[in-house]
Amino acid sequence: MQDHRRLGRELEIFDTDPLIGAGLPYWLPAGAAMRHELEEYAYNTERMAGYQHVHSPVLAKRELYEISGHWSHYRDGMYPPMQVGAEQVVLRPSLCPHHALIFRSRSRSYRELPLRIAELGGMYRAELSGVLGGLTRVRSIQLNDAHIFAAPGQAAAEVGSALAMIRQAHADMGITDAWYRLSLPSPSGKYVGSPQMWDQAVALLRAALEDLSQPYETGEGEAAFYGPKIDVQVADYSEREASLSTIQVDFYQPDRFDLTYIGPDGAPHRPVMIHRSVIGGLERLVAHLIEVHDGAFPPWYAPTQLTVLPVGEGQLPEALALERRGAEMGLRVAVSPPERGTLASRIRASRLVPYLAVIGAREAAASQVSLRLRGGTQLPSLSAAELLAKISEIVASRSVELWQH
Ligand SMILES: [Zn+2]
Repeated sequence: MQDHRRLGRELEIFDTDPLIGAGLPYWLPAGAAMRHELEEYAYNTERMAGYQHVHSPVLAKRELYEISGHWSHYRDGMYPPMQVGAEQVVLRPSLCPHHALIFRSRSRSYRELPLRIAELGGMYRAELSGVLGGLTRVRSIQLNDAHIFAAPGQAAAEVGSALAMIRQAHADMGITDAWYRLSLPSPSGKYVGSPQMWDQAVALLRAALEDLSQPYETGEGEAAFYGPKIDVQVADYSEREASLSTIQVDFYQPDRFDLTYIGPDGAPHRPVMIHRSVIGGLERLVAHLIEVHDGAFPPWYAPTQLTVLPVGEGQLPEALALERRGAEMGLRVAVSPPERGTLASRIRASRLVPYLAVIGAREAAASQVSLRLRGGTQLPSLSAAELLAKISEIVASRSVELWQH
């Protein structure tokens, strides 16, 4: 495992500039390609699981966060309000209040529940510049977030499906080192709501972990101010721990925002709000993927999936044609031309790319390419069309293996 800050810059995934500021990295093309795939993954899996996507503003009036409780419990992590005329607006510290308002924007029937509202959106943290670094300690976060508004009897099943989604996502991304934590309040901490509300929420989370036979530890004092959580934890190269995914059961914000749905009895009822993030903040996720894979990513989100290496200038037209065909099929293909050095040195420079296609005079004459997998495995020559079809199939299946025979 290597420090993502060094490897991430070397692989041109992200960088920073003092004029933009500490904790505000920008994403270079290789990082943007990865991030796009991971975001697509979140959108697709959520759509298939019955989520509806929304977009909401990253700013809101200060009053919104006073109602949500963030202003009194989380103000240290928030940016100071900006005065605009007679109003104060704040960069949002989380997406929850916006989604509560979207739920409340019209009357809701029990038939609509569970209502799953998802958004991949920005949130902001006023971290001090001394603690910032790379993609892990940042001031601006793109979060894969969702809030499920459920009748009390539906909450357990929703927590269970969110947990299953997280486990599948980690398997698809090749994350095998995460561990699960049930994050509980500390006896002395500042929390909102009644003890009975907390017991009920903890019982739901515990039951979901046990139903899926998911081993977990418990962490006292790690709960959110409004409720307990399941946190999926990872450690970075220096063994510093962070949460990648989370599920939280919240009876508090529905009260604060006076959220109701009309039940089968025609009367208003209070929904439960489940906060969940499957892949977490994109910054932290990509930092972790860089470190666990040492830059050798599974083909589906590798920044470059195939490098084409013409042996001499004479094979450059074939190499460029292969690059173009690959791009038309939605693959990320790059040509490494002979002017960059010997074949051996170009192969070394592309050592983290899953697939290398070498085209020499013999291959060009036979309309074939010679294929090397990352790690050096040499496969029998095949046609460009066969190669691209095979890679597309592996990418579509999100296999973490490079080749299926
Ligand atoms: Zn939330």
